[in-house]
Amino acid sequence: MSEQLASEFAAARREMLEDQLRHRGISNQLVLGAMARVPRELFVLDEVRDLAYADCALPIRAGQTISQPFTVAFMAELLQLTGREHVLEIGTGSGYAAAVLSLIAQHVDTVERLTILAADATERLERLGYTNVSVHEGDGTLGWPAAAPYDAISVTAGGTTMPLPLFEQLKEGGRLVIPLQSDGRGQQMWRFTRRQGQPEAECLGSFSFVPLIGIHGWDAKD
Ligand code: SAM
Repeated sequence: MSEQLASEFAAARREMLEDQLRHRGISNQLVLGAMARVPRELFVLDEVRDLAYADCALPIRAGQTISQPFTVAFMAELLQLTGREHVLEIGTGSGYAAAVLSLIAQHVDTVERLTILAADATERLERLGYTNVSVHEGDGTLGWPAAAPYDAISVTAGGTTMPLPLFEQLKEGGRLVIPLQSDGRGQQMWRFTRRQGQPEAECLGSFSFVPLIGIHGWDAKD
């Protein structure tokens, strides 16, 4: 990438931070700092690279999407990270949100069900130097028990109900953030905090995600 193009993307990133994040209430400095550092243009398909900082989700391979910048920041803020946490992400996709989380957590494990996306993200995150992210292939509705427990879990696809295995892999006081289908009209973002082994639920607004497909999610049609 030419120096001029790289500096145009850096300017677009600063604008995104101001207009799409700060302006809409994202105030956590760790989240803003991470969003300012991750080059989103290197996580999107060539054909939509000029839209890397647009205020929307964008297509990636296999009919999936990289979430809108605001959604990535909003979910990261809900996880209440300080930099010391062990985080599980379900739905690696491009690896962008995992890269953002890796800058505000100690380690990120991320699970993707589609082989092609898990392979792409592994290669991309390694190449870009995100050394504290481990990409796994599998059904993330089962969590990733081998590395549990987690301080925080972020699910970046829309589920049906809270997947119990994910809640069970949370530490006491841990947060699970997940969009869930509400009434056929869309999804609501939920945060479940583990308090004395029980979920304390908060509903935090409407969003739109591709489906979470798995044993504790939607049935696969493919
Ligand atoms: N976090 C991603 C990023 O930054 O690019 C965006 C994720 S995209 C909105 C949702 C992803 O969840 C898709 O890649 C999809 O294949 C994946 N997915 C859906 N169901 C899953 C499951 N049960 N386990 C793991 N990944 C799943």
